[in-house]
Amino acid sequence: MADYPSPRAAVLRTKEYHPPLGARDGVRLDFNENTFACSPKVLEVLGGISRGDLTKYPEREPVERLVASHLGLHAGQVLLTNGVDEAIHVLCQTFLEAGDEFLLPVPTYSMYEVYGSSTDAKLVCVQAGEDFAFPLEGLLQKITPATKLIAIANPNSPTGRAVPREAILKVIESAPHAMVLVDEAYFHFYGHTVLDLIDHIPNLVVTRTFSKAYGLAGLRLGMLAAHESQMHWMRRVISPYSVNGLALACLPAAIEDATYLEWYVEEVLQGRDLLIKAFQQRSLRYWPSEANFLLVKIGAKHKQFVSAMRQRDVLVRDRSNDPGCDGCVRITVGTLEHINRGIRALDESLAEIRWSPNED
Ligand SMILES: *Cc1c(COP(=O)(O)O)cnc(C)c1O
Repeated sequence: MADYPSPRAAVLRTKEYHPPLGARDGVRLDFNENTFACSPKVLEVLGGISRGDLTKYPEREPVERLVASHLGLHAGQVLLTNGVDEAIHVLCQTFLEAGDEFLLPVPTYSMYEVYGSSTDAKLVCVQAGEDFAFPLEGLLQKITPATKLIAIANPNSPTGRAVPREAILKVIESAPHAMVLVDEAYFHFYGHTVLDLIDHIPNLVVTRTFSKAYGLAGLRLGMLAAHESQMHWMRRVISPYSVNGLALACLPAAIEDATYLEWYVEEVLQGRDLLIKAFQQRSLRYWPSEANFLLVKIGAKHKQFVSAMRQRDVLVRDRSNDPGCDGCVRITVGTLEHINRGIRALDESLAEIRWSPNED
C-alpha cells in the first residue's frame, strides 16, 4: 500500500464542521440570517455588473476606505474579509503557535474552536454558569503568560447574552500579551460597541459581519478592525483576493441604505418581544438576548421538537450539544411575519410532542 502523506497533527485532531444545511426551504430560523432579503439597492448594483467587470481581480482597498470612514476609523485599521469566519481564521493563523493558549468562554460561536484547533495552540475553555452570563472571574483566572488569543462574541451565540463593556476592558487589561477578539456579529441588534477603543488599545480586535442584519450571508463579507501596529501582520496572512469583486461592488450600496437596515432591525426587535411573550405564556425557559435569536429550553424532547417544527416548514437549530446547553434550541428572530409563523408552529409542535412545563 502506498504511503499517503498525512496532514499536520493539529489537522488530525480538528473536528469536522458540518452545519445542517441542505433542503432549507421554508422559514429559516436556524442560522441567524436575515430571514427576508438584503437591501434592494444591492440588487440594483448586481444588475449593473458587466461582463468586463468580472474580468478584473478585486480591489479591496477603495471599499476598505469607505467602510473605515463609515465606522469612524482610519483605512489602515480596517481589513475586509470573506465573512467574519475568515477574520477568525486569519487571526488564528497570525498569532497562534505551539505553546500558545487560546482562551474561550463557552458556550460560544463554533468557528473559534474549528480554526483554533487546526493551529498548534492549546484551546482553553471556560464554562459559563446556568444563566450564561459572561464568566469574567473564571476567564481571568485562566489567563496565563501563554494566553495568546481570547475570543469574546458580544452578544454571544447561541445564548444571545451581552458582555458588559467593563468586563471586556478588564480582560484586555489583564492580558496585554494576548489579542482579545470582540466579535460584534450581532451589533445592530444590540447597539453597544468597543470600536471606539481601536485607536488606543493594540491588543484589541473587533469584527463585524454583513451576514446577519444586512442580509448578505451569501456574498461572504466581514471585516476586522485593529490598531494599525497589528494590522500589517494580518494583511500578510490574508489572501489578497479573498473578498470577491461582486461582494466589493455591493458593499457600498448596503452601507448607504441605512433606512433598510433600520427597518429590518426594528422588525427583529419587535419580533424578539413577541417570541419572548410566547415563551412566557407557555412557561418555556429562555435566556435574555441582545441578538436576533433566542435560546429556549425544550428539555429531553428537543430532537422531536426540532423535527415537528421542520414538518411545519419552520427550521430551528438544536444546540443541545453545545457545552451547558442540554435540551436547548436556538430560534432566529426574523420579520414579524416569519416570527408569527414560527410561533404558530411552536404551539403545534409543543402539542404534538406533548411537552409540559415540568419536563427537563
Ligand atoms: C454568524 C456569526 C459569524 C459569522 O459571520 P460570517 O461573516 O458569515 O462569517 C461570526 N461570529 C458570530 C458570533 C456569528 O454568530
